[in-house]
Amino acid sequence: MDIATLLENDGFLCECGRRHSTSLKKAVIRRGAVEELPAELKKACAGPLFAFVVCDKNTYKAAGGKVEAALSGAGIKYTTYVIPEEKPEPDERLLGSVLMHMPKGVNAVVGVGGGVINDTCKIIASRGGLPYFIVATSCSMDGFASGTSSMIRDDLKVTIDSVCPGVVIGDLDVLCAAPPRLAASGYGDMAAKYVSIAEWKMSEIINEEYCCPFICSLVDSAVALCTENRKGLKTGDEAAVRSIFEGLILSGIAADYAQSSRAASGTEHYFSHSWDMRSLAFGAPCDLHGIQCGIGTVLTVRTYEKLLRELGDEGPGSDDVTAPFDFERRKAELREVYGPAAEAMIESDVSNRRYDPGEHKLRFERIKAHWAELAGIIRSLPSSETIAGFLADAGCPTEPEEIGVPTEDCRRILPLICDLRYKYTLSTLLWDLGKTELFGF
Ligand SMILES: [Zn+2]
Ligand SMILES: [Zn+2]
Repeated sequence: MDIATLLENDGFLCECGRRHSTSLKKAVIRRGAVEELPAELKKACAGPLFAFVVCDKNTYKAAGGKVEAALSGAGIKYTTYVIPEEKPEPDERLLGSVLMHMPKGVNAVVGVGGGVINDTCKIIASRGGLPYFIVATSCSMDGFASGTSSMIRDDLKVTIDSVCPGVVIGDLDVLCAAPPRLAASGYGDMAAKYVSIAEWKMSEIINEEYCCPFICSLVDSAVALCTENRKGLKTGDEAAVRSIFEGLILSGIAADYAQSSRAASGTEHYFSHSWDMRSLAFGAPCDLHGIQCGIGTVLTVRTYEKLLRELGDEGPGSDDVTAPFDFERRKAELREVYGPAAEAMIESDVSNRRYDPGEHKLRFERIKAHWAELAGIIRSLPSSETIAGFLADAGCPTEPEEIGVPTEDCRRILPLICDLRYKYTLSTLLWDLGKTELFGF
């Protein structure tokens, strides 16, 4: 389904029983799309406009000047804040800094950039009750059209409710000229959905978690669109860039429909978040979000394949449940791997009764009873080899060592991912099965 049709039918009652809607009104994807920004701003705001434009040095060069020219040409008052840091982090400091540079009287926010600027501006617009517009400068991740922000709060990578932009501007003159590695990252963020959708379906079976078949199929088609066009990304081919941008927008709409990150992120994202957090805490290596998600996808699928080889068609035996769990040891491991961010995870483990033996037993029984269905979901994934091939075609690395992360670090992280978020993923499944030492890499 194309974006325009989805937006026309917004607020529909779905077969899953819920009404789905997104606050995205329009996505303008064409060469010269920035020209449409002034008209869209005027539509959204009654009375005299005063726009707050936010960019960093690179995104200013890529599109900030164009945005200013378009606003000036239309007689729209604006002020621009260029974030001075070379590599701004989406944390308390950046959010505060952007807010403190926002003049009084602003009645619209315009982000010019990718993930960090968009995530930060979405929070500013949401809390200020202001209309928000994003001018994308690359196809680097899928958060352009989602209603949440991926931020670092109290050293922990968290997802914060914010707002989906009213209008996304994807100017192909800007997007095709962006460094190909950014588009490769966007493809990695989309390849991640092979896992996130599979894990959502598995959690529906194991935890009776809400899962919407329509949203799953929407994401499936968005991933297929990107996979079909992956090869042109290395050269900034217009058709490839347009397809990946559309796929990223569709994925954001799906996340907005689901009102959660379930459709967009799973184990692979938590590898990525873990590397980001270790970089903050210890200066460990890290890379672009989607590049990391792509590698995380390969590691995750390899491990699902190994699990399937071990358990076969029979599934877990009756004596596979874990030995008594040593929470004190787990706390020490979390502190060692994540540094200060571990404290928030430990608190969440306790408040969510994550290691409650009664609930564990219930989940284990459901896994046993429904093993054939779970195995079917795992078998429906493209193989790890196939996914690695897709990623390489798009210009993505596929092994952690290629971005400076030792495999040993990944082995330490996988068992701890279930403490990172209260979300059922491969990490939780392995714990439930008493197989926390099982790695496919
Ligand atoms: Zn639905
Ligand atoms: Zn992502």
